[in-house]
Amino acid sequence: MHVHAHPDDESSKGAASTARYVAEGVDVHVVTCTHGERGSVLNPKMDRPEVQENITEIRRVEMETARDILGVRQDWLGFVDSGWPEGDPLPPLPEGCFALEDVDVAAERLVRLMRDFRPHVVTTYDEKGGYPHPDHIQCHNISVAAFAAAGDPARYPDAGEPWQPLKLYYHHGFNRPRAVALDEAMREAGLDSPFTDRLKDWKEDPEWDARITTRVPCSDFFEVRDRALLAHATQIDPDGWWFAVPLELQSRVWPTEDYELAASHVETQLPEDDLFAGITTTSAGRVASAGRVGPRDEARIETHDEARIETPAPD
Ligand SMILES: [Zn+2]
Repeated sequence: MHVHAHPDDESSKGAASTARYVAEGVDVHVVTCTHGERGSVLNPKMDRPEVQENITEIRRVEMETARDILGVRQDWLGFVDSGWPEGDPLPPLPEGCFALEDVDVAAERLVRLMRDFRPHVVTTYDEKGGYPHPDHIQCHNISVAAFAAAGDPARYPDAGEPWQPLKLYYHHGFNRPRAVALDEAMREAGLDSPFTDRLKDWKEDPEWDARITTRVPCSDFFEVRDRALLAHATQIDPDGWWFAVPLELQSRVWPTEDYELAASHVETQLPEDDLFAGITTTSAGRVASAGRVGPRDEARIETHDEARIETPAPD
C-alpha cells in the first residue's frame, strides 16, 4: 500500500518499483489523500482557462489513466488539497484543508483501508514530507499513525477487523547521491544535465543519505513509470526535466528506487533490495487471511509478532 498526498505522487515516487511488483503478481494499492484541487497547472501546454476551471475532474481522470498504466488499484481518502503556500509572510493554510485536519481523526480513514486491504508493506514520505508541502507532511503523519493503530483492537474499534502491516517505508527516490551520479554521467555524455543547477544549492548530508536501507532494482520499469507520469498531463511537461535523462543512462547509472525502512515487525537484514524482505512463508493460516496477496507473496508470507524496529511516533 502506497500512501500519497496528491494524484501524480504515485507516478513520481516509487512508480517503477510499483510496476515491477505488479508484474511479479503483487496486488498494489495506491491511496491518494487529496484530490489535488489546489495544484497549479505545471505543463505550459495545458495551462488554459478551461483546464484550470475543471482541474479536480481532469486530475481524477489523469489519476485513473496512471492507475491503469501502473496496474494498481487506487482509492481516494477524500481530503482537500492544502495548496503550496507562497508569499512573505506565508499566508495561513486554507480552512478545511488536509494539513489542518486532526491527525488522529484523519488517520481513521486510512486505518479503515488498511484493515480492508490488509497490506504487508506500507510506504509513505519521511517526516519532512520528502519535500515540505504541507500535504506531504500530513500524509506522513497519518500514515505513521495508521500503521501504529491498524493492528490494535483498542484503536478505532468501528473501523474494521484489526490488521497489522509488517513493514513501513519512506520514499528516498530523490536522493543527492543519485542526482550527483546522474549529473556526472549526463555531462560525460555531453548532454545538458537537469541536475547541475539544483545541485548548486543542495548541500551534502551524509547522515540523511545513510537513512536509505533498501534499494529496489526496477530499471526495466522506468519506461512504465514515465508513461504513468505523462498521464498526469496538467502536472508534467513532456519536454521538461523529468524526461531529460535518457532511460539507458538512468538504467546504467542508478537502476534502483530507494527507500528507508522506518518500522518493521519482521526480522530483516539491512541493506535490503526488496520491500518484502523478511516476509516469508510458513504460516499458511495467516496467508489465507491475508486474502489479496499476489502469487509471488503467497510463497513467502510469514508473520512475526515481535516488533524489531520501533514504530516512530506519529508527530
Ligand atoms: Zn504531492
